[in-house]
Amino acid sequence: MKLILLGAPGAGKGTQAEVICKHLSIPAISTGNIIRAALKAQTEMGLKAKEFIESGKLVPDDVVIGIIEERLREDDCNNGFILDGFPRTVPQAQALDQMGFEIDRVIDIEVSDEKIVQRMSGRRVCPGCGASYHLDYKPPKQAGICNVCGEALIRRRDDAPETVLERLKVYHSQTEPLIDYYRAKGKLRVVEGQEDIADTTALTLKALEDRA
Ligand code: AMP
Repeated sequence: MKLILLGAPGAGKGTQAEVICKHLSIPAISTGNIIRAALKAQTEMGLKAKEFIESGKLVPDDVVIGIIEERLREDDCNNGFILDGFPRTVPQAQALDQMGFEIDRVIDIEVSDEKIVQRMSGRRVCPGCGASYHLDYKPPKQAGICNVCGEALIRRRDDAPETVLERLKVYHSQTEPLIDYYRAKGKLRVVEGQEDIADTTALTLKALEDRA
C-alpha cells in the first residue's frame, strides 16, 4: 500500500501515520522529521531549510523532492509507505508521479483552522526520536518525557501561535489544491478529524479498506 496523508499542519497526520505504519508494517515517512533531523545535524540541506521551517514557510520544492526520492528508493519502501507531509505542492505531487510510484490511496484529514490553532498550543514533540504528544489528547506516560526514548519533550518552534497562522495560510494556498489533484485521480478519501485520536484512526482504517 502506497499511501499519502494530506491535511493541515496539526490535523493529526503524524499520529495517524505512526498507528497505520504498525498496522500495515510499512514505513511512515515524514519530510518534516527528515528536515528537522538534518537541521539538528547541521547538514548543508538542514542549514538551507532552517529559515523556511522556522518561519512556517515551505522548503523549496527541489530540496524536498530530492530528499523524498532518495528515501523512497530505500529497500524498506519496497512493500509500500505512508507519506506524512509530502507532497505539499502541486509540483511536488507531479514529481512524485514522475518517480513512478503508483499511489493507492490519499487520505485527507480535515480539521477546522480554529481547532488546529487550539490543538497546536498543546502539542509537544521529542527532539530525540520525533514522537509527538499532546498535553490533553495524547499525554506522555510521564509528564514532559518521551515514552519511546526518555528525552525531555519540547514545543516545536514553528508551533508558536504566530507561526501556526502562517503555516495555515501556506497550507490553504499551496497544499489544499492537492485535494482536487487527487480527487480527480479517484484516489481521495476524506476523513473528519475527531477529538479522540482512536476515532480518527478507525475512520482512517475504514477509508483504506474502501477499495471502490
Ligand atoms: P511538518 O512536520 O510536516 O509540519 O513540517 C514542518 C516544516 O517542514 C514545514 O512547515 C516546512 O517548512 C517543512 N516541510 C516539511 N515537508 C515539506 C514539504 N513537503 N515541502 C516543503 N516544506 C516541507
